[in-house]
Amino acid sequence: MKFKKDFDVIVVGGGHAGTEAALAAARAGAKTLLLTQNIDTLGQMSCNPAIGGIGKGHLVREIDALGGVMAQAIDVGGIQFRTLNASKGPAVRATRAQADRKLYKQAVRTVLENQPNLALFQQTVADLIVENHRVAGVKTQMGLDFKAKAVILTTGTFLAGKIHIGLENYSGGRAGDSASVALAERLREMPFRIDRLKTGTPPRIDGRTIDFSQLQEQHGDTPIPVFSFMGKPSQHPRQIPCHITRTTQKTHDIIRAGLDRSPLYSGVIEGIGPRYCPSIEDKVVRFADRDSHQIFIEPEGLDTHEIYPNGISTSLPFDVQYEFVRSMPGFENAEIIRPGYAIEYDFFDPRDLKMSLETKHLDGLFFAGQVNGTTGYEEAAAQGLIAGLNAARQVQGLEAWCPARDEAYMGVMIDDLITRGTQEPYRMFTSRAEYRLLLREDNADLRLTEKGRELGLVDDARWQAFSAKREAIGGLQEILKKTWVRADSEAAAQAEAYWGKPLLKEANLMELLRRPEVDIARLLAFVPDTDGLSEAVSEQVEIQAKYAGYIVRQQSEIDKSLRYDHLKLPESLDYKGIPGLSNEVSEKLKNQRPETLGQASRIQGITPAAISLLLVHLKKKS
Ligand code: FAD
Repeated sequence: MKFKKDFDVIVVGGGHAGTEAALAAARAGAKTLLLTQNIDTLGQMSCNPAIGGIGKGHLVREIDALGGVMAQAIDVGGIQFRTLNASKGPAVRATRAQADRKLYKQAVRTVLENQPNLALFQQTVADLIVENHRVAGVKTQMGLDFKAKAVILTTGTFLAGKIHIGLENYSGGRAGDSASVALAERLREMPFRIDRLKTGTPPRIDGRTIDFSQLQEQHGDTPIPVFSFMGKPSQHPRQIPCHITRTTQKTHDIIRAGLDRSPLYSGVIEGIGPRYCPSIEDKVVRFADRDSHQIFIEPEGLDTHEIYPNGISTSLPFDVQYEFVRSMPGFENAEIIRPGYAIEYDFFDPRDLKMSLETKHLDGLFFAGQVNGTTGYEEAAAQGLIAGLNAARQVQGLEAWCPARDEAYMGVMIDDLITRGTQEPYRMFTSRAEYRLLLREDNADLRLTEKGRELGLVDDARWQAFSAKREAIGGLQEILKKTWVRADSEAAAQAEAYWGKPLLKEANLMELLRRPEVDIARLLAFVPDTDGLSEAVSEQVEIQAKYAGYIVRQQSEIDKSLRYDHLKLPESLDYKGIPGLSNEVSEKLKNQRPETLGQASRIQGITPAAISLLLVHLKKKS
């Protein structure tokens, strides 16, 4: 049989981590196989039909800048787009889009099917093949062996997944899909630290049974934002509104009365859930003084009546779900078409990973996505891209790459995970990034595209578009610096008419732009030949000008604190032999084996004094 079974990289799982991992590995030049339980669920959204949001939108733009698929897919599958925090500073502004599930999934699949170097195969992986302390491939449920030099595991919530609805529970990877039991058992025999987490989802409602006249309507933004740096508003399908309702006192009474049959409150579920995405029963118990919670009513797609009620994720028994759903305004006659549930699953302690996302215990094996203790499509996709790239680079004998904390939210997330681990499902927030003035959605392409091109992830079309944009930004900045307005000129009078403040002395347009009251749109009236200048270019010039002071300050802080951050710690370093280091600290460092001095400094319990001792020791040795 000529059936191909040898690859450079095998990706197990076709969710958000797996699809980005497979695409990145293939784009980086590795012969890649994506093995997944069911080809029809490639890119499936297990929970809410939406991409982006605060912190998450930043990740999507970074994935896009590195040539990933998520932003392109949501541009084609998005049915409502909004810019969150639009009135706040650009650092915390974030794009969020409601998705048509089917369109989104189809867009991901189309990109996968057209990616050179990438093969798809539908099979459940049951075991890893290990040879000479290195992963050498995988074994599938039907007994097929596939060989590879690197394997990336992205099995999401499926490892020993257990679904809970009330006090009933059964094995499952998510509703409608079976759990990965054999693989989970095999991994538990290996030296990984494994624990349990949980997450939940709301019941889905038949939209024909909702009285929308009682609900508040919420429209997307106009003009409609785009996600991908290569995207165009014309790619978006028809846009539709969402709605808002609320829970009532009656809803809360029904929930309280059902708590004795809640798997969460009766101790049946042991895994910890996402603090920032709590179930409705959690919200009713934790915020007992509130008599109402806002619920967003989100369409699941353009050609379905199915509705996703965002905010009532639950694992209460079905009869309680049915009753409490009907206690919300507009939902008096609502029919549920899929019950809500919680799922418990195995995850790996991410402190057992290198920053490449390769495991420390088994060479050539990489983990990405929900298996590393994160929650969210965007968090999974970002890890997938980094793992896919690094698996390919390892096979090619190249050094691993991961952005640093000052380069990308991706870098912040991976550094957080591998240095501090996580006790609850980890999700991205802008507050996790100490250098967030530099890490904005709007400049993700300027931060990462050049690196992506060097790594082989960025194709010619994107590179040309990016280079033209970068050149246009530089060009406009030069023109603004060179164009002067004299205080007694007609232009100065015009400027005063626009912005209400007189020009007291001669200034160039860049200086004017730095003033808080001056906006780029009207400033361009002073610049000849701005036809064809894109809004993305003028917006970028404006943001850079307005925030120049803060940006320079943040950059100098980074330069100072990063002086030793990237200093490599040799793998063979004998921490016990470092004078002055306490037993506890040297034990911690020995167990976690950080790769850089910066990573060591962020491990819990490692004091600045211990870092100084380490630094002195390293300097002496070199
Ligand atoms: P998944 O999307 O889970 O993909 C895993 C893939 O691996 C699937 O394609 C599966 O078929 C495949 N697979 C599994 N085992 C094998 C095997 N042995 N062999 C081959 N293929 C295999 N996120 C939020 O941000 N907010 C929420 O409120 C939220 N709620 C959720 C509720 C539920 C019930 C679930 C299930 C998930 C929820 N999530 C939520 C999480 C979100 O779905 C995940 O974060 C995201 O899908 C993780 O992506 P992933 O690629 O890591 O895994």
